[in-house]
Amino acid sequence: MESTGYLKQIKKDLDLLNILKDDPSLPQEERDKIVSSYYTLVAFIAEYINPSPELTLESCSRREMLCEEKAFFENNDSIFDLLISFGDQEQISYTDVKSTKLTVDDMEKTLVEIMNFICDEELFAKFIRLYNFKKTQINLLGGKNKNANKNVSFYITTFNEAYSFANKDLTPKGLIILVHELGHALKMLTNYSGVSYDTEIYSEIISNVFELLSTYYLAKNPRFHDFAKNRQAFYWNDYLSLTRKCLLQAKFLDTLDYEEISFATLREFRHVASTTIQDSSYKCNYQELLKPVITSNLKYILGYIIAIEIVMLYDQNRNIGIEKLKALISIKDNINAEEYLNHLLNIIMPGKSLTIYKNLILNPQK
Ligand SMILES: [Zn+2]
Repeated sequence: MESTGYLKQIKKDLDLLNILKDDPSLPQEERDKIVSSYYTLVAFIAEYINPSPELTLESCSRREMLCEEKAFFENNDSIFDLLISFGDQEQISYTDVKSTKLTVDDMEKTLVEIMNFICDEELFAKFIRLYNFKKTQINLLGGKNKNANKNVSFYITTFNEAYSFANKDLTPKGLIILVHELGHALKMLTNYSGVSYDTEIYSEIISNVFELLSTYYLAKNPRFHDFAKNRQAFYWNDYLSLTRKCLLQAKFLDTLDYEEISFATLREFRHVASTTIQDSSYKCNYQELLKPVITSNLKYILGYIIAIEIVMLYDQNRNIGIEKLKALISIKDNINAEEYLNHLLNIIMPGKSLTIYKNLILNPQK
């Protein structure tokens, strides 16, 4: 979308707020309000320039969405097979670890360590540049404005910059979520090629690599070892459940024909969904089957399964791991899904290391 007069005006407001929010002559209360308006405006501009795929989905009907998702499963055998191979894995039993609090200094120090481990010089330099502008670009401490309540990253074409908002959660869990968001931001800063619904399914790969590698790194630190192992087991089980639910959704969509999706009533849908659940070993609410698959679960599952391969590469040889991570980052987003998948398969073989990774979770790490 082009920069219209309206957008120019908003940008002027934004520039003004940006100056005012750091103006020491204003009372703190006033500045807090300005910070809040500033971030709301930043998010608004992001949405205005790059409407999110979720919004596009929201505006089309549930039925069109179901048709698209049915078509996705029909045309993507390799992804379907990947889901089956992960879905066949077993759950891991683990005990919960109490959440610990971190100081801001602690959090920042550990964050830099993690990023230093994951990134090469080039990516790390980008992270440091973002980090030095963290007041505006990484909302690490947040809390006062409503945008800090969710974890989100976006790119503003006009400014040529990436922005991340992460929860003000001074815990190891908050830390790895922040690393996830930084994965998005670094991807955008390195290779931003617009938003395409077609490749939305692949949009959580890089961020999942960063998140999973942060748990890998933390597991080597005696202080964070138990937390990291706990998190790894939690992710494994959680994604396993989501995968099984996804497979059930695919089965449900498979039993419908396109005519039915277009003309059936919700009651009829409910009937087919209930029958699908009855015949399956995985139980869930029938409403779950009617929810969008790709944007809500599938992109995260795929991100997780692919991230596992990169973690295993780092485990064997960090340099090769970094090389593959950078190759993933360099895939454009504005190509079609099939082209994206071809690039992806040239870089790694997803699903190859599932069992090895499971053993890594189970084994204490030095
Ligand atoms: Zn994400």
